[in-house]
Amino acid sequence: MELNDKVSSLKGIGPKKAEILKKNHIFTLEDLLNLFPRKYEDRRQETRIEDLQPGKEFLISGKVLSRRYSGNPYKKNTPLTLLVSDETGTVEILFFNGRYIANLFNVNQDYSFYGRVTENFDRKQMIHPEFHRIGDPNDIRGIIPIYPQISGISQNELRKIQLQLQELYPQVEEWLPDEVVSENRLASPAYAIENIHFPKDGKQVLESKFRLIFDELLTLETGLFYIKNETRKDTGGIVIEADCADQFIKDLPFELTAGQKSVWEDMKRDLAADKVMNRLIQGDVGSGKTVVAELAMYAAAQNGYQSVMMAPTEILAKQHVQSLTADFEKYGISVGLLCSSMKAAEKRETLQRLAIGQIQILVGTHAVIQPDVIFKNLGMVITDEQHRFGVNQRSLLSKKGKNPNILVMTATPIPRTLAVIIYGDLDISQIRTMPRGRQPIKTMQADMENRNRVYDFVKKQLKEKKQAYVVAPLIEESDKIDAKSAEELHKELSQKFAGFQVALIHGAMKQEEKDFIMGEFSDGNIDVLVSTVVIEVGINVPNATVMVVENCERFGLAQLHQLRGRVGRGSDQSYCFLICHNETDVAKERNQIMCESNDGFEIAEADLRLRGPGELFGTRQHGLPEMHISDLVRHGDVLEKAKNTAKAIIDKDPDLRNRKYEKLKNRIRKMFGEDIKLEL
Ligand code: ADP
Ligand code: MG
Repeated sequence: MELNDKVSSLKGIGPKKAEILKKNHIFTLEDLLNLFPRKYEDRRQETRIEDLQPGKEFLISGKVLSRRYSGNPYKKNTPLTLLVSDETGTVEILFFNGRYIANLFNVNQDYSFYGRVTENFDRKQMIHPEFHRIGDPNDIRGIIPIYPQISGISQNELRKIQLQLQELYPQVEEWLPDEVVSENRLASPAYAIENIHFPKDGKQVLESKFRLIFDELLTLETGLFYIKNETRKDTGGIVIEADCADQFIKDLPFELTAGQKSVWEDMKRDLAADKVMNRLIQGDVGSGKTVVAELAMYAAAQNGYQSVMMAPTEILAKQHVQSLTADFEKYGISVGLLCSSMKAAEKRETLQRLAIGQIQILVGTHAVIQPDVIFKNLGMVITDEQHRFGVNQRSLLSKKGKNPNILVMTATPIPRTLAVIIYGDLDISQIRTMPRGRQPIKTMQADMENRNRVYDFVKKQLKEKKQAYVVAPLIEESDKIDAKSAEELHKELSQKFAGFQVALIHGAMKQEEKDFIMGEFSDGNIDVLVSTVVIEVGINVPNATVMVVENCERFGLAQLHQLRGRVGRGSDQSYCFLICHNETDVAKERNQIMCESNDGFEIAEADLRLRGPGELFGTRQHGLPEMHISDLVRHGDVLEKAKNTAKAIIDKDPDLRNRKYEKLKNRIRKMFGEDIKLEL
């Protein structure tokens, strides 16, 4: 048996089960070893039968006194009842599929049972408990691992699989250099794997978990430091004298908010120094991050440098191009667009103009990081809505220039303590003020019963020449399937809002189609826009005052907050309606928070309190690789240790050239995915 063997080499895993495992990204025996228990059941303590209480799970041992069928014993689903007793009392054990199981029990022999106790009149019962005959190897007592649910493979099967893998433990090798192991008092990987699956006590679980969590977080942090090291330079940065932007500020139709001003002061200091700027701006939706980016691009252009701005969707990129063109035209600064849906000739022309410096500001999707994109003298690199990009994409973008200044913008309100870890040595500025005259959005919840009243209200707004977004249910994250539910909703609303223009936009549509519809909505030719979540990010239509989210229980708090941020962009009162189709407790609590607060940072913290960081800090939200065993919030102390170790490693050996880091490098590659261009 070898770590690299296929799962199908195991007893009990045929093609069907192998396929199920494959769907769960489990291919080899090593992958199976790395399928860690989610929790444990402590079945070390046996309970005396007289002490059993209904409603809880217990472990008992006793002698089978009798075996009895309650019906025709030759029918396969005739229930079987055992009477089991220890010195203190008797209990009934009931199996519904009696025929299959009957011959496993002999009267007068001793067995252990584990299961939930119920009460049937005055008799105590256990229905379908786990069991084993005392003396047999498949002991159900002890500390029992409970694995993540894999539909199609039972817990019992998973445990049996893990038992077979025990002979692999000696093959699990140490992969970290000695000093890292001793400094952090790490258990060996073999010990950790053995005792994460089959611990004998709580201490072994803790030691094993610490090692495994440390491994994962060290890999993450070393990878991040490696990438940052590539982009961050303390000297030799491009110097941009930014006072010239005062003119641009004077020409703006509004005054900068206090938050915008203070961020701009931070940036001016960065730009004037020969250290490369590496700054993250965190600001709620609508807080006006774009104009701050414009100041930086204006200053870069006046100093003779090009800028590039990368946005996560084509719609957003085009909207940026429109507003940037309007803002920069009068200064003779040229703005260009690059995205994958452009015609080849158009693209070629853009690339040519870019290379000779005729385009001073390039806006685009991830098309801008393709190898054929060459700048004349790139000085300023901006990523909008950073949480939609992987860390590696940001690094690729900055390599388009020679130490360009970097500005990263995000509306994901990650609490500062975490942002410092996730974004490492990016400097962080926050905009916590909203532009003046903006009224807080009124948020209300509804259910299927008063859903119609919501749409009556929407109609009133339409009559006042306002526009509305309606977000269709998220069925699953598949463009095609979600589109269908959006189509049905579109049909329904077209009837309801007869006389108004109701349009549909969804992820499965062609790009040109989406752009056309967005443009029409933006120009006021469409009154109601029914959409899947494609509009989630960045879109700016100030005349839209209503956001309706159908099926709100399917969305996380961060996403709901982002969606709501599409309205409330003008001076009129805006509204957000959250329609619950299936009111779960979590959904209720989420809606409560949404109704009470408009502050993204507050919402983020509430989300953390509510049920841990899982959703908010899922991969989609911050662009980090997925963690298997660690939790960036709950394991903050291990993270701190891993981070320090990672920093020490990278400080000493920035390119991880030393052979002792070979296995660490492999793990980094695996974690960050094959497509990451880590030049490791
Ligand atoms: P976000 O931070 O979500 O990217 P935007 O940059 O799109 O927000 O800004 C939202 C809207 O607010 C835009 O229409 C912008 O012109 C406007 N805006 C930005 N700053 C101010 C300000 N200081 N006063 C008034 N309006 C502003
Ligand atoms: Mg924005």
